[in-house]
Amino acid sequence: MSFTLAIVGRPNVGKSTLFNRLVGKRLALVDDQPGVTRDLREGQARLGHLRFIVVDSAGLEMAEDDSLQGRMRRLTERAVDEADVCLFVIDARAGVTAADEYFADLLRKRAKHVILAANKAEGRAGEGGLLEAYSLGLGEPLRLSAEHGEGMDELYHVLIPMAEQFEAQNVQQAPETDVDVSDDEGEDDAENWRPTEANPLQIAVIGRPNAGKSTLINKIIGEDRLLTGPEAGITRDSISVTTNFMGTPMRIFDTAGMRKKARVVEKLEKLSVADGLRAVRFAEVVVVLLDVEIPFEQQDLRIADFAETEGRAVVVAANKWDLEEDKPQKLNELREAFERLLPQLRGAPLVTVSARTGKGLDRLHNAIIKAHEVWNRRVSTARLNQWLGAMTEAHPPPAPGGRRIRLRYMTQVKTRPPAFVVMATHTDKLPDSYQRYLINGLRQDFDMPGTPIRLTFRDQG
Ligand code: GDP
Ligand code: GDP
Repeated sequence: MSFTLAIVGRPNVGKSTLFNRLVGKRLALVDDQPGVTRDLREGQARLGHLRFIVVDSAGLEMAEDDSLQGRMRRLTERAVDEADVCLFVIDARAGVTAADEYFADLLRKRAKHVILAANKAEGRAGEGGLLEAYSLGLGEPLRLSAEHGEGMDELYHVLIPMAEQFEAQNVQQAPETDVDVSDDEGEDDAENWRPTEANPLQIAVIGRPNAGKSTLINKIIGEDRLLTGPEAGITRDSISVTTNFMGTPMRIFDTAGMRKKARVVEKLEKLSVADGLRAVRFAEVVVVLLDVEIPFEQQDLRIADFAETEGRAVVVAANKWDLEEDKPQKLNELREAFERLLPQLRGAPLVTVSARTGKGLDRLHNAIIKAHEVWNRRVSTARLNQWLGAMTEAHPPPAPGGRRIRLRYMTQVKTRPPAFVVMATHTDKLPDSYQRYLINGLRQDFDMPGTPIRLTFRDQG
């Protein structure tokens, strides 16, 4: 499965930095000065299971003459023509410039497929530019930070369906069809996030040592491919297993395996947290596995909190349920502790399982599927605004100093996890409690348990 991806954009937006990250070597030249002379650079990129050729184009210059810029531009056009897909990079901190608009137009006419990316979007500085990027009419922009390695997972997931399509075309020489990434109105439109053999649902099973992670994964894959038990120093080289969990293709990141390796170096506690954190980055759905005898340990809380911050869907599973005598009583205790200790995961499903007996695995499977579906959910702008109207009517925003805060308009700007933007006035005066009111309302009214929901306000004066 190979295809060519060209990274294009005006100078200084971070193309080389991104190229380096994809290729994993310091092959391209990075320089603060715009227009540093370069050729096209090619490298073999790796992203998850994808392998492809990446081309770092020189800065797309607007000059049409025979100057250096003119030559660079022709070089770039050649890269665009030859690439299967173009990753069009803008600088989220600088916002959309005239040059970006010019090249968006060129790419729209010339490129086979375009993925729009707003780079330098780490922290908050890029938020405005990210929203502006929609105006380029190239669909939903990816939020990237090439320098900090953020957004690579999202890029991976956008590329997967395209890679499959290129592969199919290579086989059949089928006529070109467009991958539509620009539809932001349709609801539940895209089926392409649904797990398939080639694009399995990615989960990580995390939890404290001895919670039963290996036992659970063994049970899921239905064979003793992982070694369980109390002996120290058991090693496995693979950190993920692909399996079919009750009819759903899944790739499971196995922190237990990583941890067992770590035992050798006797930094067990520390490393198991670090491994958990790493696994969370790869996962779409994070299963926080608790030992029902010692639930919600500090370590569990830290990783669960990290999963929320990283925007992953979360399912909490209480393991060793077979050991419980008074199950209803214990369930109440767990629910209470969950709400008290992890209020940020409110609404995430809590299921009980026994990895040893296999009881409750169907509940776990269904909770994972549901959380994943919700994480990918898109709500139409029309429905959102109808809802916003009803919410503000039922409970109007406050009027600090007699000036009413108006929530004018709302739209979903992103999925995985769902992110919404509300255009409003005097947003700085809006109390946190009102934001929580809206987030809880969204969760309830659109049935979105188990996923973080991002809500931001954009001030319109
Ligand atoms: P190119 O001209 O588009 O290839 O851009 P470079 O990769 O040479 O990067 C231009 C400048 O932007 C360099 O100083 C990079 O360190 C910086 N840069 C690249 N990516 C990021 C990022 O994600 N965040 C920030 N803050 N700076 C970045
Ligand atoms: P890990 O460190 O999280 O991978 O945990 P393991 O899978 O190695 O399990 C640790 C211990 O808990 C082992 O002795 C397992 O047999 C036991 N265990 C795992 N799941 C269950 C369960 O559902 N019920 C009971 N009673 N014991 C379990």
